[in-house]
Amino acid sequence: MTLIDDRAPASVARTIAGISNGELSGSTCAPELTEGPWAFDLGMPGYGPGASQGDLLPAGSAAQGELPERYRRASGEELSSWIASAKASLGSRVAVMGHFYQRDEVVQYADFVGDSFQLARAARELPDAEAIVFCGVHFMAETADILTGPSQAVILPNLAAGCSMADMADIDSVEECWAELEARFGTSPDESGRVPVTPVTYMNSSAALKAFCGEHGGIVCTSSNASTVLEWAFERGQRVLFFPDQHLGRNTAKAMGVPLSTMPLWNPAKAGGGLSGEALDASRVILWNGFCSVHKRFTVSQISAARAAHPGVRVIVHPECPMEVVDAADSAGSTDYIVKAIAAAPAGSVFAIGTEINLVQRLAADYPQHEIFCLDSVVCPCSTMYRIHPAYLAWVLEELVAGRVVNQISVPSRVAAGARVALERMLAARPDTTMAA
Ligand code: SF4
Repeated sequence: MTLIDDRAPASVARTIAGISNGELSGSTCAPELTEGPWAFDLGMPGYGPGASQGDLLPAGSAAQGELPERYRRASGEELSSWIASAKASLGSRVAVMGHFYQRDEVVQYADFVGDSFQLARAARELPDAEAIVFCGVHFMAETADILTGPSQAVILPNLAAGCSMADMADIDSVEECWAELEARFGTSPDESGRVPVTPVTYMNSSAALKAFCGEHGGIVCTSSNASTVLEWAFERGQRVLFFPDQHLGRNTAKAMGVPLSTMPLWNPAKAGGGLSGEALDASRVILWNGFCSVHKRFTVSQISAARAAHPGVRVIVHPECPMEVVDAADSAGSTDYIVKAIAAAPAGSVFAIGTEINLVQRLAADYPQHEIFCLDSVVCPCSTMYRIHPAYLAWVLEELVAGRVVNQISVPSRVAAGARVALERMLAARPDTTMAA
């Protein structure tokens, strides 16, 4: 069964259908994405088809059980009616959150749409909501659980909706790295009171890594406050260990004037991170070897082609893109930055955007006074976020109506406490921070 014909009016789904039936060429997006996600939820060794298929899924990652047949067989109209009726029955007891990168067939049911941190904070402002259905990926649901009250259940409709970038830094590998850095640099502050290393984790990381930062004098950053957070970290540490996204770390530190020669890349698969003692001694920012499978697809040649075809085009990319792409763009910024830049532009502007395709195509529909297109015309969606399908949303909502909470994401209280410390440091570093990837 495919989901395209009867369930997916959205243009991203049509793009994937075009790739599948051969009408569109030049994409490495897997045609199997046209299948319902349940086709891959049982017994798949990796992330499933799509943008993240080449990345390694860590052992112990959450796995989704079988979706009941009633939902797998339902038409788009049936799912729509079941979701609407469950939401009406639950009223303010449930809030559905839709990430900017979520597919339109799901976002249409969202009570709130935004980035991960905006959505987590919105959930905290809804004390009547007994259940928060988070249509994003695993780390986002964890953050929402950390920031919401103990009586609120955070639900991830498909447990297989992970984030390949977040999974590239697991707690064991980071603790091993930390032990090696402590062995080399010790733990004593210098004469200015700065510790040898301050850990900084991107919001796109597991709760365990946020807790690690909380417990080791570190902090969380988002893609919009990364430079503020790095300044905070440099005030307290001689160097920064930045994980999991090397590109956000490199792009941000470079823009702050940190030389590339002082940003070695720590490869957790190699002894000593694959780095010499001299490289570590000279380091200001030790970058973790992680990346986003979606944003690494954007290239300088795509920007050149956009400029050639659309003179005057404004190119905006997300800072998870590689450094040479950010350097070639007119500007780089978080999803919220991109949304605000487009909203503020005079009518008739032309934008080439380097971020996830669902957001780009939604912006193109929302701002018809502009011409807005994705730098990569056949780019894949975030394949893990794409695992959230209306069928899963209908299932978790109808279970709630029946008084059952399924797919709850619960961060252990000790981990949540440590993660909260790192998140609060971020908020104190810049109290008006509202943006994330
Ligand atoms: S777009 Fe990239 S960083 Fe964002 S959830 Fe998907 S894989 Fe993770």
